[in-house]
Amino acid sequence: MIDTQPQVKNSEIFSTMARMEHEQLVFCHDEVLGLKAIIAVHNTVLGPAMGGTRMWNYQSEEEAVKDALRLSRGMTFKNAIAGLNIGGGKAVIIGDAKKIKTEALMRRFGKFVHSLNGKYWTAEDVNMSARDMEYIRMETPYVTGIPESMGGSGDPSPVTAYGVYIGMKASAKKAYGSDNLKGKKIVVQGAGNVGTYLIEHLLKEEATVFVSDIFEDKLAAVTKKFNVSVVDPKDLYTMDMDIYAPCALGATLNDITIPQLKCAIVAGAANNQLDEEDQHAEMLKSRGIIYAPDFLINSGGITNVYYEQQGNYNRQRVYEQTERIYEVCQEVLEYAENNETTTHQAALQLALNRIKDVGKVKLAY
Ligand code: NAD
Repeated sequence: MIDTQPQVKNSEIFSTMARMEHEQLVFCHDEVLGLKAIIAVHNTVLGPAMGGTRMWNYQSEEEAVKDALRLSRGMTFKNAIAGLNIGGGKAVIIGDAKKIKTEALMRRFGKFVHSLNGKYWTAEDVNMSARDMEYIRMETPYVTGIPESMGGSGDPSPVTAYGVYIGMKASAKKAYGSDNLKGKKIVVQGAGNVGTYLIEHLLKEEATVFVSDIFEDKLAAVTKKFNVSVVDPKDLYTMDMDIYAPCALGATLNDITIPQLKCAIVAGAANNQLDEEDQHAEMLKSRGIIYAPDFLINSGGITNVYYEQQGNYNRQRVYEQTERIYEVCQEVLEYAENNETTTHQAALQLALNRIKDVGKVKLAY
């Protein structure tokens, strides 16, 4: 089993890369502009590595390296299982976005992305905006997730929400024998971009929707727009519900929450929902809760930017591809059952199988 929570000391970078199977790690530095960034290319068998750039005030350089390695590996599996012809990569910029982010910093980072000559394509992630993508675009074409007004694909959240909804339906089919969500009690954690679009799909199907957020203004906006009930964050995990949809932060499936959960399905948009991947996937399985793997059902967003990267962006094509999450999710659930493994491991295995198979096609002549 590959260690997904590596402790990376400088002297162990190559052994960690070997263990996690990374291709390349690029350290980008500009003393004058104060840029310290790391680009991690995990796997390019399916195509150029793609994954967003995250800006974060890391406590140490080791922590930044660890995040770049972990996130880029995750992108390999997400892109592969989404059926896209791109590999996994991710970049991190070290520093407080509110204090040091400037046009010059973004453009300098864009130059480093450009130096990889298309091996890595970047996009938005935490603390990065569409405006930042515009700056990066001034220095390199290898950036996607550009605003619609500039000919890009725009906000990916509606597509992400649609994929989550589709994955939830496939999971319901497995749990209840029908994918109809009418009357199901569904708790959406996080009334943000994705959560709000998801609620719209669920209400159209006459589900009974509950919502939780830590900010009053988010709750006010969503309750003004939709007929939903508010749940206090502290009551969320103990509530009687059919489906829990984490659409806020990661690691909400952990030692404390899983034993409390009263639901048949977990299906949401948040990245890295499992605190410890294998341990908590196993815990959900032993409690008989169907877990729709996050990196599969939230892949609508990367699908959206992928089609922008391919040129001739076509929204209908993006939705058709995202709709395939239904059958892939069914395949994952079947594989897990037949092989007595977790749905998380099943999804990883199906992603790996695709990388291996397509790799053979590429070698053929
Ligand atoms: P967002 O920031 O718009 O929304 C997140 C919401 O969660 C916010 O309203 C925030 O107040 C709320 N929140 C934070 N902590 C909470 C808590 N403890 N309890 C309840 N609510 C809490 O983000 P988003 O774009 O909607 O993304 C949601 C999640 O989906 C994130 O984890 C993101 O990484 C993931 N994701 C998003 C996309 C996309 O296309 N936007 C794609 C893939 C994955």
